[in-house]
Amino acid sequence: MTHPRTEYRLSSLADHRIHQIEPLTVRTRYPRVVGRNARLGSHGSGFETNAVRVLTDQGASGWGVVEGSLAGADSVVGRPLLEVFDPATGVIAPEALPLDFALHDLAATITDVPVATLLGGAGERSVTCYSGAIYFDDLDPEDTPRGLDAVLANCAADWAAGYRAFKLKIGRGHRWMEAEAGFARDIEVTRLVRETYPDARILVDANNGFTPAQTVRFLQQVADCDLFWVEEPFHEESDGLRVLRDHLLSSGSRTLIADGEFEPDEAQLLELASAGLIDVMLMDVVSYGLTAWRRIMPVLADLGVAASPHAWGMPLKTLYAAQMAAGLGNVLTVEGVPGTTDTVEATGYLLEDGLITVPDQPGFALPITPATPT
Ligand SMILES: [Mg+2]
Repeated sequence: MTHPRTEYRLSSLADHRIHQIEPLTVRTRYPRVVGRNARLGSHGSGFETNAVRVLTDQGASGWGVVEGSLAGADSVVGRPLLEVFDPATGVIAPEALPLDFALHDLAATITDVPVATLLGGAGERSVTCYSGAIYFDDLDPEDTPRGLDAVLANCAADWAAGYRAFKLKIGRGHRWMEAEAGFARDIEVTRLVRETYPDARILVDANNGFTPAQTVRFLQQVADCDLFWVEEPFHEESDGLRVLRDHLLSSGSRTLIADGEFEPDEAQLLELASAGLIDVMLMDVVSYGLTAWRRIMPVLADLGVAASPHAWGMPLKTLYAAQMAAGLGNVLTVEGVPGTTDTVEATGYLLEDGLITVPDQPGFALPITPATPT
């Protein structure tokens, strides 16, 4: 271990009481403006999001991203750490759930292990990571659209950053183009990226912008492109997924079905997974939560269903997902969000030749400035 020793290093979690909760904000910056998908308009060049730091009476601290409200989390101040957090399962007091990532960072830091180790170290420290940032940039700017060159430029930039897999947004005909023209463009983009990058892994994501019949027609027309997965083709329901599954089976395709990102209904998803209709579960890293992922991952593994926690649109969520892959196992691949986070040092994480590797420093190993509250 090369990290600096700290005063609380040899203490145990039982020695710590929560002393303070400090709201923070962090700013994501994308390397380029990210355009539209089947459902939403431009994603811009970055945004600010909430985070929180938890400090203990022994001088330890941990921090993490918060999606949603911190309301009520103050009530944990003064309580023993182990009353709200169990290292074996995660957050055990509902009012502390907004502190999910901060408490995991804190507990792993106090016990001097990477979060992945706290989570059980069941996976590999390096896992494949795809670029999730190939949007409909061919359609923008609206008065002089850049066309297919824009998509290829994005792929080239992400390849240069270390990605060897691309997730292409499809479903242009859902909102932004005439239906058949949009469908044709989706196929054109998919074929072009496959031709340009014969060795890349290619995934597609329709953000629920297709019907089951359109999904089958799309897959038929790109059958020679060896797609790794098709994500959210339509809002998940068993009849549509059965049509899709039957097509994949009868055509001998090895393309996987990935779903469960948008407004997940856990019971329904488990039912669909049990019926063999979903191969990869996509609930969000943060809004679903690390504690929830710790609970459900063994259930998914028993069903033979893999996970790939949804990480768009923060680079930090990619790093969290990589720790989950290394810690929980059963994560098929990690969604990469190209970019940086102001005031956060993320250089411990490596993206190289298509693999993301987690650091062996304690916690999430994401120093944030200022390091101490004022
Ligand atoms: Mg998606």
